Amino acid sequence: MMTNTQWAFTQEVHPNPTSIDAIAAHLENPGFGRIFTDHMVTARWTEERGWHDAKVEFRKPFQLDPACAVLHYAQEIFEGMKAYRGAGDSVLLFRPTENARRFQRSAERMAMAPVPEALFIKAVEALVSADKRWIPDGDGSLYLRPFMFASETFLGVRPSKEYIFCVIACPVGPYFKNGNSAVTVWVSDEYTRAAPGGTGAAKCGGNYAASLLAQAQAAEHGCDQVVFLDAVEHRWVEELGGMNIFFSMADGTLVTPPLNGNILPGITRASVIDLARNEGITVEERPYSFDQWCADVASGHLREVFACGTAAVIAGVGRIRHVGGELVIGDGTVGPVTERIRDLLTGIQRGRIDDPLSWVHHAG
Ligand SMILES: *Cc1c(COP(=O)(O)O)cnc(C)c1O
Repeated sequence: MMTNTQWAFTQEVHPNPTSIDAIAAHLENPGFGRIFTDHMVTARWTEERGWHDAKVEFRKPFQLDPACAVLHYAQEIFEGMKAYRGAGDSVLLFRPTENARRFQRSAERMAMAPVPEALFIKAVEALVSADKRWIPDGDGSLYLRPFMFASETFLGVRPSKEYIFCVIACPVGPYFKNGNSAVTVWVSDEYTRAAPGGTGAAKCGGNYAASLLAQAQAAEHGCDQVVFLDAVEHRWVEELGGMNIFFSMADGTLVTPPLNGNILPGITRASVIDLARNEGITVEERPYSFDQWCADVASGHLREVFACGTAAVIAGVGRIRHVGGELVIGDGTVGPVTERIRDLLTGIQRGRIDDPLSWVHHAG
C-alpha cells in the first residue's frame, strides 16, 4: 500500500503519441469535450490494499464486467477543473485543493473510498505534465476530468469494495456555442434537481442523469440551460444544471442562493463571492424566489444575472423563459458587473493579472 507522502506513479511510454501537427489541428477549434489527450491517470482501491497501482498510462477503454456495480447503481463522482498555459513554459491550475476536498466530500456522500488529497493533486499534475503539449494557447484551456466509480463485480446493493479513480483531459474552447454572448435560461416548472437529504451537494453523475430531461426541454424552448427551483415549495431558485447563479441588483449588491445542501458548492461560486467582497461589493447569500426574480426584472431592481462554473467560467444570462412567457434582463446583453467579474476571474486564472487571494497553483 502506498503511504500518503509517496504517491509514486508508474509511467507508460506512449507507443504512438499524437504528432505536434495533429495536436495543432485539434487545438484550432476544440469545441467542448470531444477531443481527448494521449494519456490518462488511474489508481485502484480495494478493501485489502487501499489505494494502489497509480499510473500514467495511454488513454484506452476500460474493461468492465457486465455486473460492474457502477453500471447498475451509479456509484460515481467526478470533478471538473482547468489547466491554463501561463507565461513562459508554466502551467497554471486554479485552486486544485478545493477540487480535491470536494471530491472527498462527494465520495463520503456516495459511500465511496475517499481519494487522499495528495494523490488527487499528484494525479492531476502527472496528467498535465504528460499531456502538456495539449494545453491550448490564447483563450482555450485543458479541461481536466477526475472521476471515480464502483468497479466491483457484484449485484448486491451495498457500497462497492473496489473503486477506480481516473483523470482524463480534453482541450477546450468556449463552453457555449455563442462564446461570450448572453445565454437564455429555461426555468423548469416540472422537474427538480435535488431534494433535502438527497445528493444535490455531491458532484455525482446521478444528479446529471436526473437533469438531462429538463435540459432537453430547455433546448426545445430555445434555451441554453435549465434553472431548477427547490423541490419542496417549487419557489426558490437553486442553480442551473451544472452552474451556480448570481443576481446583480441596482443598489450594487450581488445575491446568490445559499448552500443549503441541495446546491452544488461551486468553486467558481466561492471565488466570485470572495473576489467581489475583495472589490468592495456586498454579497448576500440568501434565498431568492422566482416570483421575486420576475418582480425585480419588472421593477428594474435586477440589473444583471450570470451563471458560473469551471466549464463556462462566467456566463451572462440575458433572457429567462418559463411556462408563463419570456423576460428580458436589462437590455438582454452581458452587463458591466458580469464583465468586470469575468475579466478579473479569468485574468487571475490565466496568470495575466495579480492574484490577490493566492489561488493560482503552479503545476510545473
Ligand atoms: C460542477 C458544478 C457546478 C460548478 O462548480 P465549479 O466548482 O464552479 O465548477 C455547479 N453546479 C453543479 C450542479 C455542478 O455539477
